[in-house]
Amino acid sequence: MKKWKYTVMAAAMIALANSALAEQCEVEIESNDAMQFNKSSISVPQTCEQFTLKLVHTGKLPKTGMGHNWVLTKTADAQGVATDGMSSGLDKEYLKPDDARIIAHTKIIGGGESDTVTFAINKLDPKESYAYFCSFPGHSAIMKGTLQLTQSN
Ligand code: ZN
Repeated sequence: MKKWKYTVMAAAMIALANSALAEQCEVEIESNDAMQFNKSSISVPQTCEQFTLKLVHTGKLPKTGMGHNWVLTKTADAQGVATDGMSSGLDKEYLKPDDARIIAHTKIIGGGESDTVTFAINKLDPKESYAYFCSFPGHSAIMKGTLQLTQSN
């Protein structure tokens, strides 16, 4: 019994140390059946070479009715990318194929699913303003946020 306790404690401590190291260059964002992201902004340290975003759908509805993705563009491009993606259909992830304005995106997921995307941070300009949104038709007005590069201390 005692041994089991120590093992759990050690595992928890290792998990804590790992998350402290890794959390800066990766983030998890949740989406749900109420058409919401749980974050309205994401900060990325400029020192990250790669950044990993994990999108989780905590709801139960299928992707055909309440699908979500995470799409990153310059703020100025967000509206155009969302509008052009609307007619592309679910099989194209509601994104215009080969749209050069898209910096990174996950696939469309339904309730209980998740998807991860990793992209290079050196492609991003610290002076530029970036936005993320869900391109499922009708969602981008509510499901959106901003992404900033931050200087590390
Ligand atoms: Zn959505």
